[in-house]
Amino acid sequence: MSESIKKLTELFAKFPTIGQRTAGRFVFYLIGQPKENVDELVQAIQELKKNISSCPSCFQSFQAAGKSVCDICANPARSNGLLCIIEKESDLLSIESAGTYKGLYFILSPLVSYRAHVNENLRLPQLKEKIAKGTFSEIIVALNPTPEGKTMAILVERMLKETPQFPTLKITHLAKGLPVGGELEYADQETLESAFEGRK
Ligand SMILES: [Zn+2]
Repeated sequence: MSESIKKLTELFAKFPTIGQRTAGRFVFYLIGQPKENVDELVQAIQELKKNISSCPSCFQSFQAAGKSVCDICANPARSNGLLCIIEKESDLLSIESAGTYKGLYFILSPLVSYRAHVNENLRLPQLKEKIAKGTFSEIIVALNPTPEGKTMAILVERMLKETPQFPTLKITHLAKGLPVGGELEYADQETLESAFEGRK
């Protein structure tokens, strides 16, 4: 196999859920494409890295263009005392598209998905700082009902309980009903709505 094919296959294989075989299919698909399509893809990737940054307050990706925080964090109507802690950005997108929740978010994990080493790199110090600076009355722990999500929830609650300034914070969890082992990302709108409404 030529070096170019091998190299690109290895790069695609690092993408979430993409194995060697699918990575190879992407490469052969690109080989069959006209040059302008490939150039367009390369340019889109470069622009993504140039224009998109991570919101320093909730850590979702946003197009900065002169703004210091994302539209959700900047929206005064959303500072209603609720903070929802989620594992990753795709969970935020699912909750937003369900449309029920109107508070703020915090994305706990810098990784797209966890398979091991859950407690590495979690943004617990940043979460602590955000809560200390904010005026939150309720912290909604909306982590996935997976083994990794459960471990993260334990770490978050331990941090909240061990921080002396946070004893009056109400900590809630999404209602049961999300499929066990499933992820928020894949839950339908109705399930997410009732999980938020029935939180306790
Ligand atoms: Zn934000």
